[in-house]
Amino acid sequence: MNENRAIDLHTHSSCSDGSLTPAELVARAASAGVEVLALTDHDTIAGVEAARETALAVGVHLIPGVEISASWRAQSIHVLGLWIDPAAAELGTALREQADRRGLRMRKICARLGEVGLPGNRLLAAVEAQPGLPTRAHLAAALVAEGIVTRTDDAFRKFLGRGKAAHIAADWPPLDVVVGWIRSAGGVACLAHPARYPLSGGARRQLLADFAAADGGAIEVITGGNAPQHVEACAQWAIKFGFTASLGSDFHQPEHSWNPLGRLAKLPPGLTPVWRSHGL
Ligand code: AMP
Ligand code: MN
Ligand code: MN
Ligand code: MN
Repeated sequence: MNENRAIDLHTHSSCSDGSLTPAELVARAASAGVEVLALTDHDTIAGVEAARETALAVGVHLIPGVEISASWRAQSIHVLGLWIDPAAAELGTALREQADRRGLRMRKICARLGEVGLPGNRLLAAVEAQPGLPTRAHLAAALVAEGIVTRTDDAFRKFLGRGKAAHIAADWPPLDVVVGWIRSAGGVACLAHPARYPLSGGARRQLLADFAAADGGAIEVITGGNAPQHVEACAQWAIKFGFTASLGSDFHQPEHSWNPLGRLAKLPPGLTPVWRSHGL
């Protein structure tokens, strides 16, 4: 593939915590000049079919994807499944279980908010009224709508983030299990935003080694908002551990003007793009 083509392999729709429907997302990507797009909603592939229909109509090459939440040493890790078969049975069952985990965790978080004097039941109802599999981003939006915080960032800083009153440790399945689901669906497992996890240097190297041992194939080298020093670090990790390299904006909504669709730096030289093995 011509390396100058616009590629974006990490995006969200309203089937998880993005603001655009899958059809709107694909149409916007086409207008932005994106030629190859992966839809990677959190723990759901519900948007893939609609995205595919629009992609056909507007001439975008759509890669079916998902961003699955996993656990590694008590840390939540995000693994992208790219080129997954949306009809794969084991992955389908696993994602239904992830949806149940998300629902249960949201109820626990809202109960905790109730304990600290906030309208937990009303917040839960507001989350459940929004489209998409529930995430903390939905709850942050509900906290803003209630006037309890002014910005979603504050919701994480005051209530939802690590160490805060309503932080509930998620019981996501282990990293190797999640990679196994993706591989069983014919997908490439790609570690999302490897520089974003709060880990020491040694722990991060162990994460990368464990991900490789579990049959993880790629890491995200360019991700929306990544500082240049992270790109260089990610590139070195890709080479050291033998991963192919991916890039994606992690687009959630047009209002996040700092994180548009498809406006990504090129992969540094010397890396094998993740799409090379897929004939692109
Ligand atoms: P969850 O997967 O339910 O833990 O929700 C995490 C989602 O919340 C992420 O995918 C982001 O979209 C969003 N998020 C996480 N941290 C923040 C933050 N500090 N400010 C705004 N949004 C955040
Ligand atoms: Mn998100
Ligand atoms: Mn993520
Ligand atoms: Mn994401």
